Amino acid sequence: MATVTLNQAEKTYPNGFKALHGIDLEIGDGEFTVLVGPSGCGKSTLLRMIAGLESISGGEIKIDDRVVNNVAPADRDIAMVFQNYALYPHMTNYGNMAYGLKNRGYSKAEIDTKVRHAASILQLDDHLDRKPQQLSGGQRQRVAMGRAIVREPKVFLFDEPLSNLDAKLRVDMRLEIKNLQQRLGITSVYVTHDQVEAMTLADRLIVMNAGIAEQIGSPIEIYEKPASLFVASFIGSPSMNFLDGKVSDDKSHVVLGDGSKIDLDHKIDGGRELVVGVRPEHFTLIADGSGAQRARVRMIESLGAETLVYLEFGDKGENVTLRMQGTHQFTKGQELALSTSADLVHLFDKDSGKRL
Ligand code: ATP
Repeated sequence: MATVTLNQAEKTYPNGFKALHGIDLEIGDGEFTVLVGPSGCGKSTLLRMIAGLESISGGEIKIDDRVVNNVAPADRDIAMVFQNYALYPHMTNYGNMAYGLKNRGYSKAEIDTKVRHAASILQLDDHLDRKPQQLSGGQRQRVAMGRAIVREPKVFLFDEPLSNLDAKLRVDMRLEIKNLQQRLGITSVYVTHDQVEAMTLADRLIVMNAGIAEQIGSPIEIYEKPASLFVASFIGSPSMNFLDGKVSDDKSHVVLGDGSKIDLDHKIDGGRELVVGVRPEHFTLIADGSGAQRARVRMIESLGAETLVYLEFGDKGENVTLRMQGTHQFTKGQELALSTSADLVHLFDKDSGKRL
């Protein structure tokens, strides 16, 4: 059991590129922390720095009370699960799981107990004598996890472990990882660019953007109160709608591009221009159009359980997506009246992108 603490952790690569700009983070004992963000934001760099596979250029990383900046990966008491599994093809699955223990000087009997215990947790008992290439992708990933579990590390690090699996298997393995982590209670840091994976796995989510932690919080906090336009657009699928708005002179509402109004429940300077964010599920279709937002249908996607309606809004033809439960029929060009409520609307500064 362990905590991981980062104090102003920085990374500058030898070519001078600054990949991380001072990350502060405290990962609690047994907590499942997920680093999420677009390609190139620095998630893998951060994970590899915790693992010791990448040097740290500034600040410090601690595991419990010990500063590990200069501690070799093998001495950090962490285990890492990679995207490509990194299994030895010439060894059996048993051999792969036992390998790290042999190097650490455990007896044959101790190794056997640990490997068989991990295999039973992961339902790999019948596959131990086979080689990795005789297994499915999901089973291989479980062997990779087994190899990490047998070491009983203080910290688990996962680098996009599910990205080589097909969609259905990804969902199954996601549930397995969550279940396993909860049962074992091992402090875990997980990197993904998949926001559904991030939302479902994380106790705590860190949304990264260009080497900065843009927001840290529980998945629901981040979904309900995104701190910036970047976070708002990255978390949630389909993405939040963003519309240009202007605060009325009496500060009582925001006026949108079609002249419609949304009541304001906090005071912002009259005349200020801002970005209004509304999640696709937070628009409702109304019969009476007076005072509503008006939009024309561009396209419809029926997904069975829900329908996504893509609309053009106002004179500027701003894009709006509407998510409705069940199936619905609309014709292209049809005008719809939408409404939303003030407490479901997100307001962002137009220049800084910060939440208001
Ligand atoms: P992805 O999801 O694509 O793996 P990531 O968020 O994990 O992206 P990193 O691999 O951490 O991103 O890379 C962060 C930034 O650092 C990127 O802009 C990348 O090009 C740069 N980078 C990574 N490794 C090096 C290196 N060895 N030298 C210079 N720049 C690097």
